Amino acid sequence: MARRRFVALLLLGTAVSIALVAGLGPATQPASSTAGEPGGHGARSGGPVVPPARARAAVDRLIGLGEPVRCGGGREPVVALTFDDGPGPLTARTLNVLRRHGARATFFLVARQIEAWPAYDWIPRRQRRRHAVGNHTFDHVALPGTTGKELARQIGGARDAIADASGGEVTLFRPPYGARDASVDTSVRDHGMLQILWSVDSMDSRGIPPEEIVANVAAGIRPGAIVLLHENRGTTLRALPEILDLIARRGYHAVTGPELLAIDPPTTAQLRAGTCP
Ligand SMILES: [Zn+2]
Repeated sequence: MARRRFVALLLLGTAVSIALVAGLGPATQPASSTAGEPGGHGARSGGPVVPPARARAAVDRLIGLGEPVRCGGGREPVVALTFDDGPGPLTARTLNVLRRHGARATFFLVARQIEAWPAYDWIPRRQRRRHAVGNHTFDHVALPGTTGKELARQIGGARDAIADASGGEVTLFRPPYGARDASVDTSVRDHGMLQILWSVDSMDSRGIPPEEIVANVAAGIRPGAIVLLHENRGTTLRALPEILDLIARRGYHAVTGPELLAIDPPTTAQLRAGTCP
């Protein structure tokens, strides 16, 4: 059953892509976090294509439920690679590796990186063209204990800066270190964003060698997995081709976070329990 639904989705996606190529689709892409290149990115990559409006609706529904997301429902062969802490000097190479493998991903950006490094300010727009862009605060600080104006700056201020830099709305948020408290959860909800955590920690931030990063991802991926990676580590970049090969070999597609949530949404019970299948 799951397979049939997935194939139907592929066909739907292909039809949408053909319509866009043929000029039947909208002249401009909607300003959602999954807006892609005109022409339909998925058709070129061979992966599933989720119409931006459907991906956006999946995120909106989850924002309404108000619980953080750790993974999908575990029923469909999709995984979401997420890259934190950029943009930076290795981002362009990360994007090139993803493109060569026909993969899409989600980038949780640090607003200060964009403002303090003018050399990186073109990157968020390029990331959004094909991938999804999320908010990883202004200064990459641990948020628990932060209140008031500072919390609003780290969550809302960063959201606005990243939206400006990437040229579209930002509806996804990931707290640095996954560290949250009740004030953080409330502020993210009040700013109309969805918290995306992860189900697989590649442990790349610990400075382990590429083969261990690959092994950690290999041990963790299953349908609906969300994988934590970092976009500015040479070891992660060296591990990435093997991670993408592994995903393809096992019959998964690497999609954006919103696409994963549209294709394989977590159940409400799963969200409330904070667990993954
Ligand atoms: Zn981080």
